[in-house]
Amino acid sequence: MERSIHFFALGTENRICAVGKRAGRALTAAAARVLELEGCMSAFRETSEISDIAHHAGIAPVPVSEDLFTVLKKAREISEASGGAFDVTLRPLTKLWHFGAEERIPDNRELSILTTSGRLGYRQLLLDERKKTAYLPLPGCGLDLGGIAKGYAADEVRRVLLSYHVESALINLGGNILTVGKPPERGYWKIGIQNPLAPRGIHAFILEMGTGSVVTSAVNERFFVRQGKRYHHILNPETGQPAESGLLSVTVLDDSSLQADALSTAAFVLGLDAGVRLIQSMQASAVVITSAGEIYTACPTGISQVSAGPTPAFRHPAA
Ligand code: AMP
Ligand code: MG
Repeated sequence: MERSIHFFALGTENRICAVGKRAGRALTAAAARVLELEGCMSAFRETSEISDIAHHAGIAPVPVSEDLFTVLKKAREISEASGGAFDVTLRPLTKLWHFGAEERIPDNRELSILTTSGRLGYRQLLLDERKKTAYLPLPGCGLDLGGIAKGYAADEVRRVLLSYHVESALINLGGNILTVGKPPERGYWKIGIQNPLAPRGIHAFILEMGTGSVVTSAVNERFFVRQGKRYHHILNPETGQPAESGLLSVTVLDDSSLQADALSTAAFVLGLDAGVRLIQSMQASAVVITSAGEIYTACPTGISQVSAGPTPAFRHPAA
């Protein structure tokens, strides 16, 4: 029995399709789990765990749930591995830009006051593994899990669906894809990667893959235009500005959607060479589209440029 569910959570549209005898119940439970995680990880909810950590910045460490601790630990790991390109302490900065609301361009003075204030930087996030607490030592610090929370939620959806023994599923949390089993109609999944410069639904690349996660960070996902200039939502922690690393889109393939989500954001900030090196060091694969329109595919052992021609297909090693 094939079933699907569509709902809004984590600031985005989510759609999950599943095949199995108890698919209906599995999907209801999976959506409830995503909403539960949103309640814990949303920077926009006053009552979320991460808002609580921000309210206690400079005051006291806050005990956090197993879910949040797992995400914060992975965030810290990818922050260290990326030399700070990935950084969940950017909330005071994303607040200045108002992404997701009525966007604005912060002026240089505001940005330099913030970037030199010491309130940004992953080293500001202190995790205590034994007590399972998180602490931001300076008042005015905050957390933004926009670059990683959907990945964890997708992994959790897979766990919930498998507990209901679904045969196959396609999990799509705002473009964060995770596949389970094989699709009903053929032996592998076909996942389109959006052409970042074309209208939605026009693909630059088609992946043919087995089970696993496909996560894209790109200039076209969230952006606004002012006086002819585009401003996208992936920020360079060093400058406080939208990252300009010569890339339009980074897609990461990994069994863990949590890791793929953090890696795609980090690699987008780092650029082609350092970004691909980081992804490879975590044993993941990637499709990268540069500002010049070149497409590169990378797996843990190499990188190659896709030659021009009709929309290419890339067979992930897991296929
Ligand atoms: P993604 O689409 O997964 O690449 O995540 C982008 C979102 O992550 C943004 O909307 C911000 O909420 C947040 N973000 C922006 N820049 C960074 C960064 N350098 N490191 C971590 N999170 C970021
Ligand atoms: Mg991400």
